Amino acid sequence: MGNQSDSMLSNMRTQMDRAQEYAQVEENIFTRMKHPERTLTVTLPVLRDDGELELFEGYRCQFGAARGPYKGGVRYHPSVTMEEVIALAGLMTSKTALVDLPYGGAKGGIICNPKDLSRDEMKRITRRYTEGIRRMIGPKTDIPAPDMNTGPREMAWMMDTYSVYEGYTVPEVVTGKPPVIGGTPGRVEATGRGVAVVTERTLEYLDRSPEDVTVAIQGFGNVGSWAAKLLTERGANIVATSDVTGAVYDPDGIDVFDLDEFYEPGAHPIDEYENAQHISNDELLRLDVDVLIPAAVANTITADVAEEVNADIIVEAANGPTTPGADDVLVERDIPTVPDLLANAGGVIVSYLEWVQNTQEYAWTKEEVNADLERRLESAFDELIETYTEYGVPDMRTAAYVIAIERIAEANAHRGLFP
Ligand code: NAD
Repeated sequence: MGNQSDSMLSNMRTQMDRAQEYAQVEENIFTRMKHPERTLTVTLPVLRDDGELELFEGYRCQFGAARGPYKGGVRYHPSVTMEEVIALAGLMTSKTALVDLPYGGAKGGIICNPKDLSRDEMKRITRRYTEGIRRMIGPKTDIPAPDMNTGPREMAWMMDTYSVYEGYTVPEVVTGKPPVIGGTPGRVEATGRGVAVVTERTLEYLDRSPEDVTVAIQGFGNVGSWAAKLLTERGANIVATSDVTGAVYDPDGIDVFDLDEFYEPGAHPIDEYENAQHISNDELLRLDVDVLIPAAVANTITADVAEEVNADIIVEAANGPTTPGADDVLVERDIPTVPDLLANAGGVIVSYLEWVQNTQEYAWTKEEVNADLERRLESAFDELIETYTEYGVPDMRTAAYVIAIERIAEANAHRGLFP
């Protein structure tokens, strides 16, 4: 389990190759589409609070921009690698195409452990990183957003640093900002809301309903906790969830609102929560539930785990949680898997809505944002099901990639090859 970053990139290419068998995109264009356009490495000299200098390494990868400006989050984690950032940028490129946003794909990351850093140290790292990638990003070129261990606070610092250099306030350079400085209502919970919407639509497609299902969610971070709360509101019974310290399980259902109040990474981790039984993350993945939602890190559902999954449906809230080997097992075992490209696209959709509001200097209500998010996800879901049933592809992931690579290839074909 964990971030096997090198394989994440090869996994993504394998998934694209599988889709190419059905999509039949012109070979010259397809070859280009599997490689990033550029990747920058930055060394970040940062003063620790004790006065010592520490060098951190960060990356920004711009994968593809055939359909519009590069777009993608920034991740802070000890296991970040350049290969992982490239793979995640590639995923973003396909994701924005699948949900038909006028964007390409990018990703950023810094190798660091936020748990060991004070607020001031996080600020210095964020500002130095923003300065380091400043020449690459911009409201019309590349628009960063939050990912693991980054949120509105870091986006505010990034926006401020970029604006200081420009000499005026540029809210539209990043999304996921606090609402008071141009963030949109609904952004913090957008990815989790998208997971809830897609889970509900999948259940409907399978003639089931949220009221009748039990759910296990691996990872109670931003995405997992919001998915848990919004699925509970739709009537689902969340019986297990976890963080990096372990998992909790209650066959009668976990009070996710109570857990949310208690949970604070580092200070109040899941393994200290007293109102449920404790199990391991491995056990959580194998629980007999209706829906399993991996919402933590990549490559948690390997072929071995897939053999022992007891869920009827998997909804991928995390990026890249299922390996191609596991996909084969899940197809064999007839366990539908809703791919990350669709299931966690709520975040980038609402990021797009934030950027649109910023560029128009106009603010929407939360109701307008949520309604637009749901409309876009439902239409992408319907398109995915149409391709899934009409192209004779083995699984929903291949259907998602068929749609994405056909759209990117069409844009590439219109634009032509430079020079
Ligand atoms: P987060 O940092 O808020 O939460 C991650 C959670 O996973 C935490 O509870 C953490 O303890 C847990 N975790 C970490 N390592 C684990 C392990 N080895 N086993 C079990 N649990 C572990 O991050 P997030 O923003 O919620 O992102 C979660 C996933 O969703 C990532 O794959 C991310 O790329 C993806 N994603 C996030 C967004 C977004 O808007 N935040 C958008 C799209 C996709």
